[in-house]
Amino acid sequence: MNFEQLKAQENQYVMNTYGRFPIALDHGEKSVLWDVEGKRYIDMTSGIGVCSVGYNNEKIISAITEQAHKIMHVSNLFTTEPMVKTAKTLVESTDMGKVFFSNSGAESNEGAIKLARKYSFDKYGEGRSKIITLVNSFHGRTITTLNATGQEKFHNYFFPFTEGFDYAVANDINDLKSKIDNTTCAVMMELIQGEGGVLPLDKEFVKQVETLCNEKDLLLIIDEVQTGIGRTGSLFCFQQYNIKPDVVTMAKGLGGGVPIGAVMASKKCCDVLGPGMHATTFGGTPTVCAAANAVLDIVNNKDFLNEVNKKGEYIKQGILSIGSDKIECVRGMGLMLGIIVDADKRSDYVNSCIENGLLVLTAGTNTIRLLPPLTISYEEIDEAIAIFKKVFA
Ligand SMILES: *Cc1c(COP(=O)(O)O)cnc(C)c1O
Repeated sequence: MNFEQLKAQENQYVMNTYGRFPIALDHGEKSVLWDVEGKRYIDMTSGIGVCSVGYNNEKIISAITEQAHKIMHVSNLFTTEPMVKTAKTLVESTDMGKVFFSNSGAESNEGAIKLARKYSFDKYGEGRSKIITLVNSFHGRTITTLNATGQEKFHNYFFPFTEGFDYAVANDINDLKSKIDNTTCAVMMELIQGEGGVLPLDKEFVKQVETLCNEKDLLLIIDEVQTGIGRTGSLFCFQQYNIKPDVVTMAKGLGGGVPIGAVMASKKCCDVLGPGMHATTFGGTPTVCAAANAVLDIVNNKDFLNEVNKKGEYIKQGILSIGSDKIECVRGMGLMLGIIVDADKRSDYVNSCIENGLLVLTAGTNTIRLLPPLTISYEEIDEAIAIFKKVFA
C-alpha cells in the first residue's frame, strides 16, 4: 500500500490521538530509514530515543531471535536468566540496589511513585504522600503521571487525577523548599527536561535538591526515561550530576526498539515493595530482556559512551558552523540535543528537514529535538548537517 492508501485506512481504523508526520515508514538500516514510497531519510529521532543502537542491528535481532526460539514469555511467577542478567548489569553499573521491570516510561514512574509512598508509609505512617515535581516536566500519560507532569495543558479532561503532586520551578531551590512540608515524601525530576524543550538542570540546583532530600528523608526520584541508557554520554545522566538518587526510572532506549521499562531503587529503599504489592504481566519477559542485554552490551562501556559525547559535540559544532541567525542556540548533552529556533517558524523547518530527507523531533515550543541512534556514523551526521545547512539557509 502507498502512503495515501495507508493513511485512509489509518483514519478509518486507528484513533486519531497523534499529530503524525505525513510519512509511512517501511524499513531501516543503521541510522537511515525508508518510507513506503522508497524515499530515504537520515533518522535523528530513533523512535523517540528508543532505537538506541540503530535499525536492523544484528546483535539485537539475534538476541531476540534466539530467545524467541527458546522461550518467548514467562510469567513473573518464574525466574529467567535474561531478566536476572538485565537487573544485575543495571545495578552493578550504578551501585544501586534492585530493579523492577515494567513496559513503559509512565509505568516505571508509577512504580517509583508507589515505592516512594510505601517507603514513607513504612517509616512515618499515613499522611506523607506528596511528591514535588518540576514545572515544565514530563512524566507520562497515565492518570497519575499526567498529574505528576508539571504542565497545565496535561491537567485537563480526565478528572479526577491522582492527588498528591505539587510543582516547583526548575533551578529555584527556594521555590522547591517552599513546596515541601510534612506531607511530602519525594522529589521527582528529569535532569534534562526532554519533552519540555531539552532543558538541562543546573548542576548546583540538582546537588542542592539531593542535600535537601537527604535532610528531610525524601526519596529523590530521577526520571531517566529519556536521558538513560547512554543517551547523554554516560549510562545514566545522574552519573554526570554526581548524585546518588534513591530511585531511577528508565524505558525508551533500554530495549533498543522493544517495549521495556524499569524502576531501579537504591539499597536504602529497594526492599520496600514486597510480594503482591506491585506486578505486571509482561514486565521483564525474557524476549525483551534479551534485547536489553544486547543493548547494554553495546552501550555500557567507556569507549562507546565517549563516542556518544564526541558525536554530540560534532553535531553541535556542525549546526553552529552553519552560522544561521535562525538558530538561537544548541543545547543538551551527548546525543540529546535541542536546536532553539523561532517558535512560529519551527514547523516550517521541520517540514523542510523531512522534504530534504532528515527526520527530527520537536520539544517545548521552540525546540527542534535530536535523538539520533547512539550508533549514528560521522558520515550519516555529515549528511544531516548538509540538510540543516539547506533548511537554515
Ligand atoms: C517518554 C517519557 C515518559 C513516558 O514514557 P512512555 O514510555 O511513553 O510511557 C516519561 N518520562 C520521560 C522523561 C519521558 O521522556
